[in-house]
Amino acid sequence: MSESTLQIGLIAPEVLGTYGDGGNACVLTQRAKRRGIDADIIEIPLFEAIPEYLDIYTLGGGEDTAQSLAAQHMQRHRGLIRAVTQGRPVLAICASLQVLGRKYTDAEGRTVEGLGLLDVETEPMGHRAIGELVSDPLIEGLSQPLTGFENHGGATTLGEDASPLGQVVVGCGNDGKSGLEGVVQGSVIATYMHGPVLARNPELADLLLSRALGCELEPLPMPSVDRLRSERLSIS
Ligand code: GLN
Repeated sequence: MSESTLQIGLIAPEVLGTYGDGGNACVLTQRAKRRGIDADIIEIPLFEAIPEYLDIYTLGGGEDTAQSLAAQHMQRHRGLIRAVTQGRPVLAICASLQVLGRKYTDAEGRTVEGLGLLDVETEPMGHRAIGELVSDPLIEGLSQPLTGFENHGGATTLGEDASPLGQVVVGCGNDGKSGLEGVVQGSVIATYMHGPVLARNPELADLLLSRALGCELEPLPMPSVDRLRSERLSIS
């Protein structure tokens, strides 16, 4: 692997990878390659050390038991925390959003300490939010509606240091009452959207890539992605 290869981390996909969330790393790699930028997926299995030097980190969703294993893993191996301290971009989906927060309580009432990278806390919502999720982006660099699929029992509340990713248009979002979706803090972008979210939202994929590369990227026309977007937006 050359030093100029973009290294896209895929953290513990055995436990953090519901609904094809591992596809986010594939989308980043392919969108980089189509622009002539060499890119590789670096898969970090559960319970192996997490390197702190990767260019982008992706973490998917997971069921409660798998999620608690992921939380233990990331508490033990502090590489992700050091990477965030260095400002390296991180994309965290659903269970990972909860694990990166201060703490979460799962459906069985078990409270688990999170990594504290996001100023959020998650409590059981009392029901599962399942279905299409559409939001208007609230962060600079995104202008198109965000779409994804949500399936979670946790309700997440943002503290002062955390900002939302989007304003809910369709679906539940973070807690079903604030109208907020996702969390942004420092170099971390976290969301309840599966899909995989980057396959459905190329603008978000390019935002992560441009942050990792430190430059603006030209748009990448991909008619199949546009078709998927309009199909999903039309049914929600
Ligand atoms: N176990 C978590 C919840 O139900 C996250 C689920 C997920 O990642 N889809 O809230």
